[in-house]
Amino acid sequence: MASTLGLGAAMCPLSSLMLPDSAMAADMVPLRIYNPHTRERYDVELFVGSKWNENALLVCHHMMRDWRQKKSIQCDKKLFAALYVVQRKFNIDSPISLNSGYRTPETNNMLRESGAAPNSQHLLGRAVDFALPGVDPIVVSKYAQSLGMGGVGNYPTFTHMDTRGERVYWGRGL
Ligand SMILES: [Zn+2]
Repeated sequence: MASTLGLGAAMCPLSSLMLPDSAMAADMVPLRIYNPHTRERYDVELFVGSKWNENALLVCHHMMRDWRQKKSIQCDKKLFAALYVVQRKFNIDSPISLNSGYRTPETNNMLRESGAAPNSQHLLGRAVDFALPGVDPIVVSKYAQSLGMGGVGNYPTFTHMDTRGERVYWGRGL
């Protein structure tokens, strides 16, 4: 039998993110995140009991900021829960690389040449491009897809995951 993150009915989109019982055991590990652009690294306890840890969320929003424009917004915290579920699934000690989170219009326009969508979910703080060291992105992408949260894109070196209201998948192998 699986448990949800226990965040209550108000967080119902999270109810689709099932954690194995082992993830809810006393040995809760922190979410380990790394920003390869700024080289910042944090280990955060996302939850305090069954509630979000607001201080941890502040760190997460900061790590997801548009580092080029030095701007941050409140990103969708379901992304952080999903990253945590992914971390637990692959059981890695190394931090998850947050390659791209929130993007200002300026940054998104700049990235258009390298494939950023004009109406990118990154503009809304609802998307993250990430990679797990030592894990093939297609394996991560397929697992992210299985969570059924929204959009998932598989790229050669990372996975895009977003919380748009519909399930959309792209990239080789999805
Ligand atoms: Zn993306």
